[in-house]
Amino acid sequence: MIIFPGSFDPFTIGHQDIVNRAITLFDQVIIAVGENIDKRPLLSTQAKIKLINDVFVNEPRVQIISYSGLTTDLCHQMKVNNILRGVRTIRDFEYESTIDSINRLINRDIETVILLTDPRYAAISSSAIREIRHHGGRIDKFMPNGIELEKYI
Ligand code: ADP
Repeated sequence: MIIFPGSFDPFTIGHQDIVNRAITLFDQVIIAVGENIDKRPLLSTQAKIKLINDVFVNEPRVQIISYSGLTTDLCHQMKVNNILRGVRTIRDFEYESTIDSINRLINRDIETVILLTDPRYAAISSSAIREIRHHGGRIDKFMPNGIELEKYI
């Protein structure tokens, strides 16, 4: 079992690809929607959960939860030591590396499993989707199939 923590504001086709690949490696993937204290999100936590549920409605090996507080505390509560993250760029790598170092200082048993982005999705980020939407652009090709973002806002 592995926990995939993130803001998912919104969940993108890039996130979906990471989850689909992780379920070939782990028996269960728990997507954990975190409450981010210093961002005003586009989607409420409930809407994020509904959207992600709709993506994985036919995949019983994927569960969706929300949490606040430290990811290491969530791992402790759920008795899971594996954290899943995705990396697109060197910048992502540096960020993930720092977080992993901190998590490891908090709990030595935690292993972060990093999947490298599929090049098709390397440029896709939640923030880019929010920005394109804000300026009235089309974002459907960045969203998982069949997901209409406006329905969740
Ligand atoms: P956070 O705010 O915690 O970084 P995000 O929702 O932005 O959460 O992303 C969650 C994880 O998914 C991060 O590890 C991020 O690097 C990864 N990720 C986001 N978009 C992509 C993508 N297109 N390809 C691969 N990994 C991605």
